[in-house]
Amino acid sequence: MAKDLLKIAKQKKIKYFLISFVDLFGVLRSKLVPTEAIKGMQKNGAGFAGFATWLDMSPADADMFAVPDPDSLIQLPWKKEIGWLASDLWMNGKPVEASPRVMLKKQIKRLAKNNMVLKSGVECEYFLINPEGTAIADSRDTQSKPCYDQSALLRQYDLIKEICDSMLKMGWNPYQNDHEDANGQFEMNWDYTDALNTADRHVFFKFMVKTIAEKNSLRATFMPKPFENLTGNGCHAHISLWNGSKNLFLDKGDKLGLTKKAYNFLGGILHSAEALSAFFNPTINSYRRIDAPVTSSGATWSPSKISYTGNNRTHMIRVPAPGRFELRLMDGSANPYLLQAGIIAAGIDGMEIRRDPGEPLFVNMYTDGDNYPNIKKLPSELEDALEHLSNNKPLLAAFGEKNITSYLKLKEQELKNFNAKEKFLKKDPITDWEKINTLDC
Ligand SMILES: [Mg+2]
Repeated sequence: MAKDLLKIAKQKKIKYFLISFVDLFGVLRSKLVPTEAIKGMQKNGAGFAGFATWLDMSPADADMFAVPDPDSLIQLPWKKEIGWLASDLWMNGKPVEASPRVMLKKQIKRLAKNNMVLKSGVECEYFLINPEGTAIADSRDTQSKPCYDQSALLRQYDLIKEICDSMLKMGWNPYQNDHEDANGQFEMNWDYTDALNTADRHVFFKFMVKTIAEKNSLRATFMPKPFENLTGNGCHAHISLWNGSKNLFLDKGDKLGLTKKAYNFLGGILHSAEALSAFFNPTINSYRRIDAPVTSSGATWSPSKISYTGNNRTHMIRVPAPGRFELRLMDGSANPYLLQAGIIAAGIDGMEIRRDPGEPLFVNMYTDGDNYPNIKKLPSELEDALEHLSNNKPLLAAFGEKNITSYLKLKEQELKNFNAKEKFLKKDPITDWEKINTLDC
């Protein structure tokens, strides 16, 4: 029996609900619904015109309905009278197949058929900048190696504390907050959990950080590379696969602590990495972070090539401890649902085909990567990634050709719009188009 939102609203004194969904470009959209109307909305969903969002629809299409998932309910920690809900999209009595949360749930179901659950945690880096988006917020944050700078961290204590307190109240078990490797950049970590829950939290985290920054007269950005000379915003994920309480990736006898299944899963990610970039690095600006020139801190911390290793952050995949791996490809503009869905789809392919990831490479890829010319490079711009996605058999099969075509169509329109005004050259400064269209990604 689904939770009764009207009953919960009365108990928790919720006056309004935000019935929300995320479109294919990761934009969070919602309707604000008074509690008096929630009963009908819980049953039938809130109506939207699909074409008005980044979904492959026409103005002539029927109403699209966002049906809230009561299990996703979050009472806004900074405005208790509002309840936030993640939703699944429906049209003409059927789920909208080319919508991110529906796409993720389909991949989760494929794992569930074999009694497997993917657990993941995401590490969302962000910058605190001025409201105009022209500079970092803290003009005293100028160290050339700014990572873990205590003074810069504490100058933002009120804001960081409000976000961390919110996570504590929501039961996410946050455990650390730090200043990251770029001036003005921060990261906050909370516990990993199942993929759908992590994706919903990832969506909410970005909304919360941006909102609390605004309340403090600042702006937060997850843009992959907002400043050319500084480290970009990554969104690394730590991945493990479970059957009940058994970690299917853990083999203490293996040199990296991974099972055969984990290596095959990894093999699937390596096999489809270029195509996955279309989901994981979905903006034009994303390709300034990948294979970028060295930053002022001394490293980019982002991958250039498709490789894996042990506990070494210069590779696309790092195995920091037995039983899990860290995928470092994604950036702050990744759609939280497509991020998890892409990992699962490529991982299932790897397990089904028993893809061999080859031997791990224990070298510094930043200094010695050129000595390994046979290792494939990541796409150098969005166009390349889209091309790879259009030809990637495992992802076409997992998501359906029609859904991938919808995604590609919208992304190609975006590229056309960009190319009509600008040219993407890594050596040139970040374009105004990228700033206008990506600062609030
Ligand atoms: Mg980090």
